[in-house]
Amino acid sequence: MHQSQYPPEPFRIKTVETINMIDRAQRERVIEEAGYNTFLIDSKDVYIDLLTDSGTNAMSDRQWAGMMMGDEAYAGSRNWQRLEATVKDLFGFQHVVPTHQGRGAENLLSRVAIKPGQYVPGNMYFTTTRYHQEANGGIFVDIIRDEAHDATIDLPFKGDIDLAKLQALVDKVGAEQIAYVCLAITVNLAGGQPVSMANMRAVRDYCRPLGIQVFMDATRCVENAWFIREREAGYADIPIRDIVREQFSYADGCTMSGKKDAITNIGGFLCLNDEELFVRARELVVVFEGMPSYGGMTGRDMEAMAIGLEEAMQEAYIEHRVKQVRYLGERLMEAGVPIVRPVGGHAVFLDTRQFCPHIPQDHFPAQALAAAIYVEGGVRSMERGIISAGRDKETGRDHAPRLETVRLTIPRRVYTYRHMDLVADTVIKLYQHRQDIRGLKWVYEPKQLRFFTGRFEQV
Ligand SMILES: *Cc1c(COP(=O)(O)O)cnc(C)c1O
Repeated sequence: MHQSQYPPEPFRIKTVETINMIDRAQRERVIEEAGYNTFLIDSKDVYIDLLTDSGTNAMSDRQWAGMMMGDEAYAGSRNWQRLEATVKDLFGFQHVVPTHQGRGAENLLSRVAIKPGQYVPGNMYFTTTRYHQEANGGIFVDIIRDEAHDATIDLPFKGDIDLAKLQALVDKVGAEQIAYVCLAITVNLAGGQPVSMANMRAVRDYCRPLGIQVFMDATRCVENAWFIREREAGYADIPIRDIVREQFSYADGCTMSGKKDAITNIGGFLCLNDEELFVRARELVVVFEGMPSYGGMTGRDMEAMAIGLEEAMQEAYIEHRVKQVRYLGERLMEAGVPIVRPVGGHAVFLDTRQFCPHIPQDHFPAQALAAAIYVEGGVRSMERGIISAGRDKETGRDHAPRLETVRLTIPRRVYTYRHMDLVADTVIKLYQHRQDIRGLKWVYEPKQLRFFTGRFEQV
């Protein structure tokens, strides 16, 4: 491996938080008590926490300074004015509605833009996104390119929409039965895979004459921009902030989780160009989130998010971010550990079908593997397979996704390359005795978003 491919951390460390490793016998007890669900492990019992990159980011000194500038007025906070201006400048949309996090924005968008019975095509589902679409009577249809469902195919833009699939749906149900197209950049559950600018443009060109709106899931829009610059012809010399803005020029709005690419611990927003949709979303935000000038966030959160969004556009930041994730992936691949390829923007996904071929999908191999990784090295990851996919609303049967993965998700600016080595060593060691990993069965299955709080025992 060429160390020179991997830039050093573009920051120095000013505050530290001590982490502790408990011993193996304790970890075995902890995972059993947590019902083999890594979501139910206490943070104090985790050594390296790769559960999620959501809200787990380290803020900068400038963001912490911004926290002291919180204007906690109930209405008209100056932090909101700064956040609104920053989002309009960086994303280019007409209107911004603040929300407590990404799913708050998804709730508002689904309520204002979906009529019961309408279809919502998207490039692979996301858990909370699909939940809100379905809760509002929408029917989700996956229109991502086929290759995205195959962990072994290495392509630069595996997140792209397959326009033929979109067209087939429109031909079948009619354009007026499409609520909107939901275009995620990057695609989390496909492995953090990016969408090309050419694809965004093509989707817009197809939808606009038909009057179909396109809303982006902007959660990792900066990571997506980085991949466009690295891989798509014509973008090698374009600043990241210009690529980010061009991406959004092909959409009518977006939902954003500020807990990811805005490098904060909480927050989100909805962007819209359509005046009527905006007025309705602003009417609803007061019911679910708060005044249209805070939407569930404190003034200091909004200040930190405005600063975080600016920092996310910095070239050295985003280069290190994406390459640190890649470093972990490369180390695993060199040792022969099967991962989803290519490595995406925020996480390395273990291909559990190859890692644990001895566990059938209805014994939840990815859930079992995530539990085993914790026991092996105190590293917390998450299942992204049949448990996360949930049940079909109509038939009650499990959605059985082709991708059965464990996600090792890297928080922004929190861990070093040496931490990545420890994670790699843990997974490689486990891979060498993978036959010992045993499948799981339900003890408690929640009705909604069951992966968060479900409990299991070994079969
Ligand atoms: C995290 C996430 C969301 C939801 O955002 P929250 O802030 O967690 O509510 C939506 N879409 C994608 C792709 C995400 O990763």
